[in-house]
Amino acid sequence: MAASTGTLYIVSAPSGAGKTSLVKALLDAQPQVRVSVSHTTRPMRPGEVDGVNYHFVSREEFLQRLEHDEFLEHAEVFGNLYGTSQRWLEQTLNEGFDLILEIDWQGAQQVRRLMPQAKSIFILPPTQEALRQRLTNRGQDSDDVIETRMREAVSEMTHYVEYDYLVINDDFAHALIDLQAIFRANQLLQAAQQQRFEGLLGQLLA
Ligand code: GDP
Ligand code: ADP
Ligand code: 5GP
Repeated sequence: MAASTGTLYIVSAPSGAGKTSLVKALLDAQPQVRVSVSHTTRPMRPGEVDGVNYHFVSREEFLQRLEHDEFLEHAEVFGNLYGTSQRWLEQTLNEGFDLILEIDWQGAQQVRRLMPQAKSIFILPPTQEALRQRLTNRGQDSDDVIETRMREAVSEMTHYVEYDYLVINDDFAHALIDLQAIFRANQLLQAAQQQRFEGLLGQLLA
């Protein structure tokens, strides 16, 4: 039996809404889901690890990779370049893993055009004040960076209408259950289950 191809998920949110924490919590409970590690020219935050959170590269290296068509999509966000490695993405989906891209709305538009079967999820904070508080509490960005991210937040959030699913991250545990429900429902789609349970179906219908 040919292994089934994984599902591609796009997760977007304004900076500080909680997408990284929610995706990490989801992965802890879902062994068949992987997250793409983007390339970025953003400076590394305290505690971040090269190759784990991002592949941290110079602007020069990023532009070279772009010229070599290595990125499925890329975008400039808050003055830094971000891109998704195409080779790793294809390989992971072909191995049958579901794959999450944590990318901004500009990248999401590019991926939807190239891979219309992708499912997209937008995460919103409960209030603007909560968003500012989370950015401040995270304690990893300077005041200037936080101000830029807050200024951009409203225009980013207007893009929620382009997404298939909307999750409000007020209570973390509740938002995680919502996110898990999206993944579980997609895993239960008839076509996916048919491949997974080919043997069982063969016996039942014999
Ligand atoms: P954080 O989201 O607040 O943790 O800040 P980051 O600096 O990690 O990300 C800033 C923005 O860049 C977010 O909107 C991310 O979704 C977006 N981003 C991260 N990686 C990529 C990527 O590979 N492509 C695109 N288009 N956007 C990305
Ligand atoms: P993003 O990746 O969207 O920028 P993070 O996952 O880094 O967001 O979350 C930003 C900060 O908010 C982190 O310090 C995280 O622990 C905190 N956070 C996330 N979700 C919640 C929530 N539901 N309630 C309170 N704090 C949260
Ligand atoms: P390169 O960009 O040269 O293909 O990747 C350098 C290393 O990072 C290789 O080990 C490669 O497999 C890995 N890598 C590249 N892009 C990604 C990605 O988007 N996600 C993950 N997890 N690994 C990647």
